[in-house]
Amino acid sequence: RAKKSGRGQYQVFSSEMHQDAHKLLELETDLHRAIAQEEFTVHYQPIINLNTGKIAGFEALVRWLHPKRGLIPPGAFLPVAEETGLICSIGSWVMRQACHQIYQWQQQQSEPLRIYINLAAQQLIKTNLIDEIDQILAETQLKPESIKLEITESSMIQNLASTRRLLKQLCDRGIDLSIDDFGTGYSSLGQLQSFPVQTLKIDRSFIQRLDGTTQSLGLIPIILSIAKVTNMDVVAEGIETQQQLDQLRQLETNFGQGFFFSKPIDADSATQLMAQNPQW
Ligand code: C2E
Ligand code: MG
Ligand code: MG
Ligand code: MG
Repeated sequence: RAKKSGRGQYQVFSSEMHQDAHKLLELETDLHRAIAQEEFTVHYQPIINLNTGKIAGFEALVRWLHPKRGLIPPGAFLPVAEETGLICSIGSWVMRQACHQIYQWQQQQSEPLRIYINLAAQQLIKTNLIDEIDQILAETQLKPESIKLEITESSMIQNLASTRRLLKQLCDRGIDLSIDDFGTGYSSLGQLQSFPVQTLKIDRSFIQRLDGTTQSLGLIPIILSIAKVTNMDVVAEGIETQQQLDQLRQLETNFGQGFFFSKPIDADSATQLMAQNPQW
């Protein structure tokens, strides 16, 4: 973006911008290496069945284990990965990793566990996602019903015709779709209904407002009734307090996720958590 200089003129390149550009380029180069060297790791955050209080599955959340900078959160590198198209390689890696992991956990558990995997808009358009998923299903022997793919409203409506075809193919295989950060995008209810979506993940901005009062519920009851009428499940994201959990339970919300239960943790810690057989 052009910056306004002191004398009221527009400077096309400031030294700050050169620095920014340089940093971006460095990050991109770094990311190429990270993909080649598999410097990523997946953390897992439990999703709780609010009827039983038990772990129903995990959301896979990528982190970058940078050799110099340590653990980098997705917000610090996914935007560049999306801009450069590198997100597709990272996304494939995460999907394979997470599917193998959930299969392993399923072997140790009697109750069914599902894996929630985030998909970037580009993965819906660019990669041959179906072939990739079929390959992963074949090599892991994972049931397609174990996989929930999370997409945002905006990526869903970005490329309507081709996305619709892809989502139908996924649905035909028995793979579920969740709308991530629901309530923050601008898909219409009509559009929503025309997609084969099984789950709404209510954005955490709605949940974090909950303070025990009826007013703080805002649109949550409406989202829950939409889900009920259209036969969808709901996951409340970002539950941080007992009070928020109580309020959501009173409204008969199916599933919950948030720091109140657990932060995203590495695979070993998640294995330990399950061994304790927690119930909330
Ligand atoms: P998201 O899919 O909405 O994931 C939930 C984010 O909310 C995670 O942040 C999680 O740590 C955070 N969170 C969960 N519970 C709470 C809570 O109680 N309080 C607060 N304050 N935060 C909570 P994280 O891991 O930093 O991921 C950020 C975003 O990066 C994700 O948002 C998702 O959009 C994206 N992302 C992460 N992994 C992947 C991936 O493998 N592929 C793609 N395409 N995107 C990913
Ligand atoms: Mg998500
Ligand atoms: Mg989310
Ligand atoms: Mg989010």
